[in-house]
Amino acid sequence: MDIRSLCIYCGSNPGNSPVFIEAARSFGTLLARRGIRVVYGGASIGVMGAVADAALAAGGEVVGVIPQALVDREVAHNGLTELIVTRSMHERKARMAELADGFVALPGGVGTLEEIFEIWTWSQLGLHAKPCGLLNVAGYYDALASFLDNTVTHGFVNATHRGMLMTADSGDALLQAYAAYQAPIVAKWVERKDT
Ligand code: AMP
Repeated sequence: MDIRSLCIYCGSNPGNSPVFIEAARSFGTLLARRGIRVVYGGASIGVMGAVADAALAAGGEVVGVIPQALVDREVAHNGLTELIVTRSMHERKARMAELADGFVALPGGVGTLEEIFEIWTWSQLGLHAKPCGLLNVAGYYDALASFLDNTVTHGFVNATHRGMLMTADSGDALLQAYAAYQAPIVAKWVERKDT
């Protein structure tokens, strides 16, 4: 899959180790050097701000999508290639999804998890065929990945669906996996009329 534009979900906090901000900066720089546009939540703070600043500094294109209600709270970035201000959180997520060829979560909190889980569930439903994954900086997502394996072991998630949320330890590995990604054919949900 040709990735020209990548949606990044990540923390509005920086985390308590410099490793998270450093990884965000190198990923932003890598994307700019590869000519891949960054689409993200438009904040200037935390891991979000670090990815955006690094991509911009390396000459990349960065589009922020932020709801009006969060412009002040998350300190909307005023130096982006484009800042799209939406009326709601739902509109924000829909715009981000439209603008990207793939989705990745860097370390973050509940907002980050909600966003990557939603877009992953959309791929399960066959609503899009774009790659989704976790950039596992310093093992941050180890416990989540192993819990998700557990959901397959216990029969709640199909192994094909589990495989549609990839995990990579480096930005390079992630981009390589996304370039090779072909969405599995997902059985469309059909309403049963006989039950
Ligand atoms: P966090 O990972 O909690 O630091 O949040 C990262 C980003 O996710 C921030 O821009 C939040 O505004 C955003 N966020 C939080 N909750 C939601 C939600 N329900 N839908 C969309 N974005 C959200």
